[in-house]
Amino acid sequence: MNALHDPAPPLDVERIRADFPLLARTVHDKPLVYLDNANTAQKPAAVIEAVDRFYRETNANVARAVHQLGEEATAAYEASRDKLARFLNAPSRDEIVLTSGTTQAINLVAYSYALPRLQPGDEILVTTMEHHANIVPWQIVCGRTGAKLKVAPISERGELIVDKFVAALTPSVKLAAVAHVSNVLGTINPIAELARAARQRGIPLLVDGSQAAPHLPIDLKALGCDFYALTGHKLFGPTGTGALWARKDILREMPPFLGGGEMIREVRFEGTTFADPPHRFEAGTPNIAGFVGLGAALDYVEALGRERIVEREQALLEHATAALKAVPGLRIVGEAAHKAAVISFLVEGAHAHDLATLLDHEGIAVRSGHHCAHPLMQFYGVPATLRASLAFYNTHEEIDRFVAALVKVRQFLL
Ligand code: PLP
Repeated sequence: MNALHDPAPPLDVERIRADFPLLARTVHDKPLVYLDNANTAQKPAAVIEAVDRFYRETNANVARAVHQLGEEATAAYEASRDKLARFLNAPSRDEIVLTSGTTQAINLVAYSYALPRLQPGDEILVTTMEHHANIVPWQIVCGRTGAKLKVAPISERGELIVDKFVAALTPSVKLAAVAHVSNVLGTINPIAELARAARQRGIPLLVDGSQAAPHLPIDLKALGCDFYALTGHKLFGPTGTGALWARKDILREMPPFLGGGEMIREVRFEGTTFADPPHRFEAGTPNIAGFVGLGAALDYVEALGRERIVEREQALLEHATAALKAVPGLRIVGEAAHKAAVISFLVEGAHAHDLATLLDHEGIAVRSGHHCAHPLMQFYGVPATLRASLAFYNTHEEIDRFVAALVKVRQFLL
């Protein structure tokens, strides 16, 4: 058989788990089962060691010093931009702005792109399933300009109603902003289709890729959106790292968001000229070691292979969904046809926080609450859900332990 056509072997999960030191710890004297990956993901030793090595061997500020350390630190920081561009299949590395995370990336677009353009009567289109990070910045700039937020609805199953989204793309809409993957429902939105519709109407589309980048192959050239935001800590990298990708022609027209060092060409008291993108949007000393760690995280994920990650996580999702559905009185919130491995659910007669607390005593980390998605909770008429969010390093056995523990702790609350 032609070796080129051999399928890649499945992931060796035991070996992978050994790469993540934290997964070996106990919680309340029980082996940890970490199912809160949509909140933040654990870090492989390669990331921890890259950050450690940076501080031990390379530490210096970027883009300022001509000494050897400064050059090495700058090269290591800039290498992370190259890796992000490759990871996302971005047309150019100069379109990658390094940020502290998705929240800063979306605020950058809100303040630098939207604020100067919006006028009374204009609209920003979002969807019911957005995280607060993809709602509140738009509300703030709408409040300042007299523009309005418009919301595209979802179905009870948790799928965006595409026809209604497209119908909502009216001439008054100056930007649309959509999650690639919902952090509550796991729904994978059809971004290429939404981007095509937006583009036909001349409306830029921002995609919140926080929950997609760690779990799906991302090909910006194929997606066809205009902005893509992601956060590093959910991508197995350090906290305080992230990125905004935006088309070069759009970035060139955007004024600075924050002012200070690194983002200028020349400063005079009479006036300042600014650096070209992406540095125009990177004022001050960045999280250099964090980005070195993020680069290591991207290398790690690429070495595993994103197709194999999808395959593994889909198998885990299927197993967890079936196991949870067998629990009496349990209702899954979000049953889209295309889902990432995020499962929100409610258990009759038990509050999500109580269940999460009792599960913690069994060594099981799940999240309970509104998941920074108040409007989505209002849509479903609930104050909170429990959420189990999986990563490639989780196992079928962990899911079985989680579901068995859930059945056990529920007895205490009935
Ligand atoms: N958008 C989505 C869909 C998220 O899940 C999150 C984090 O939970 C964010 C945005 C915000 O990310 P960060 O807090 O890293 O900026």
